[in-house]
Amino acid sequence: MITADAFRGKKTAVFGLARTGISAARALLDGGAQVVAWDDAPAKRQEAAAKIGARLVLAEPASMDWREIAALVLSPGVPLHFPAPHAVVRMARDAGCEVIGDLELFFRARRAGFPDTRMVLITGTNGKSTTTALIGHLVREAGLAVQVGGNIGVSVLDLDRLNPGGVYVLEVSSYQLDLTGMTGADVAVWLNITPDHIDRHGSLSGYVAAKRRIFDGLAKNGVAVVGIDDVHGLNVCDALRAGGVKVNPVAVAHAPMTPGVYVQDGVLYDALSGEAGQVTDLRRLSRLPGAHNWQNAAAACAAARALGLSRDQIARGLESFAGLAHRMEEVGVVRGVRFINDSKATNADATARALSCYDGVYVILGGVPKEGGIDSLAPLFPRIRKAYLIGQAADAFAASLNGHTPYQHCGDLAAAVAASAKDAAQAGEAIVLLSPACASFDQFGNFEERGEAFRKLVSEYAANVMSGSAA
Ligand code: ADP
Repeated sequence: MITADAFRGKKTAVFGLARTGISAARALLDGGAQVVAWDDAPAKRQEAAAKIGARLVLAEPASMDWREIAALVLSPGVPLHFPAPHAVVRMARDAGCEVIGDLELFFRARRAGFPDTRMVLITGTNGKSTTTALIGHLVREAGLAVQVGGNIGVSVLDLDRLNPGGVYVLEVSSYQLDLTGMTGADVAVWLNITPDHIDRHGSLSGYVAAKRRIFDGLAKNGVAVVGIDDVHGLNVCDALRAGGVKVNPVAVAHAPMTPGVYVQDGVLYDALSGEAGQVTDLRRLSRLPGAHNWQNAAAACAAARALGLSRDQIARGLESFAGLAHRMEEVGVVRGVRFINDSKATNADATARALSCYDGVYVILGGVPKEGGIDSLAPLFPRIRKAYLIGQAADAFAASLNGHTPYQHCGDLAAAVAASAKDAAQAGEAIVLLSPACASFDQFGNFEERGEAFRKLVSEYAANVMSGSAA
C-alpha cells in the first residue's frame, strides 16, 4: 500500500467513499494527515468507517470550516465542472482549497518517495483495460516487477510500493485526469477518442482537453504513445511533436507508417527506428480478436518498446496473454460450439466490434437498452444466424430485427443460453455470443455479474452434456 505524505500534519477532506475514496482516506491517514470524510450515502459512510476505523472523522461538508482544509480529495464520479460543479467543489474553491484526486496523491507520493520506479499511464475512450492488462503482462513476462491498477482492478493507492526499476502500469479515465496536475509519466498512452462522457466534460473539446492532461509533466526522456487512427489522435500527435515530445505513433487504419508501430493485414510491425520489422501475426492470437484489439496490441507494443523491451519479448508476451474476462472471452466449447462472453459490450458500438469478428453467429442481446438501441447494427444483421432476446430491451430489439434476422424472446439469460446452445449444437460447428448491446441493471448488478452468470450456465450445460442429460 502507498502512503500519501503530502499533507502530513494538515487537515484534508475526502468526498465520495467508494473504492478510491476509502483508499485515499487510508493513505492520507497513514501519511500523517487528519482526514474528514463524507459520502451522501449512509451505507458508504458506514462501510468506510468499518474499513478504516476510528481514525476516520465523518463530517458533512456544509458543517466544515473550509479555510482549515488544505485539500479536497474528490471521487472521480463527483461532477467537477459539468453539468454543474458539486456543492462540495464550490465550497472548497471558494475557500481557495485545492481539489485533487487519488491519482494526484499517488503522483506526489511517487515523486517524493520512489521516483526511481517507472510509470506507464493509459487513457482513451475504448480499450483502456485491455491495453493496460496487456502492457502489464508484457512487462511481467519480460521479468520486471510490475503493479497494475488505477481505473482497472486495484486503486492506485492500494498498489504495492515498488523498488527502483519496477514499473507501474495504470489505467486512467478522463474523470481522474481532471483531478491531476503533473503526471511525471515515463510513457503516456493515448489510444483513441470517440464522443463519450460529454455530459461530464461539457463538450467533446472539454473531454479531449481532460485526456490531454495525461501528457502534462512527462518525465525527462518520456515517450507519448498516440493512436492516430482518429483525427483527435492525429492532432495530439502533431501538437506533442511541435512541443518537442518524443512520440511513438500507432496505427491500424493508417498503416503502414514510418516511424511508428502499425498493423497491416493483421501483422504487427515495429518501424520506430525507421526500418519496419515484423513483431508477430496477430490473426493467430485468439485472445486479441478483431481490429480494435490490434490497435490495443500495437499500442502495448509501442509502450513496451519505450520501456526497452525487445521485439521478441513483446511477441512472446502477446502470445501468452490470456485476455480479460467478459471481453470476447471464450468460456467453453461444447459439442463443437464455442461460447463467447462479451458481457462488457454494454452498447451497440461494442457489440458491432464483436459481430464483425464472426459470420453466422447465435447472439444473445438485451438488458437495459441505450439510446438508438441496435438500429446501428443493421449492416451486421446478416452475420447473425439467430438472436435470443432478454430483459427490458426485448420488444424494441425484436422490432429492429423483424424481417431481417430470426429471433426468439427468451426472457432471461438461462433460457437464452439453453435455446441458443440447442440451436447451435444442431447446426454443428458454431458460435454462441453473449454481447448484449445493453446495460445489465434490469437483471444483474453489473456486467461482471452478467458475464459470470453466463460462464456458470455454460459450464452447467457442459456438465449436462457430459452426463447425457442435456437436450
Ligand atoms: P475500456 O477499459 O476503455 O472500457 P476495454 O478494454 O474494457 O475498454 O474494452 C471494452 C470494449 O470496448 C470491448 O469489449 C470492445 O468492444 C471495445 N474496444 C476495446 N478496444 C477497443 C479499441 N481499441 N477501439 C475501439 N473499441 C475497443
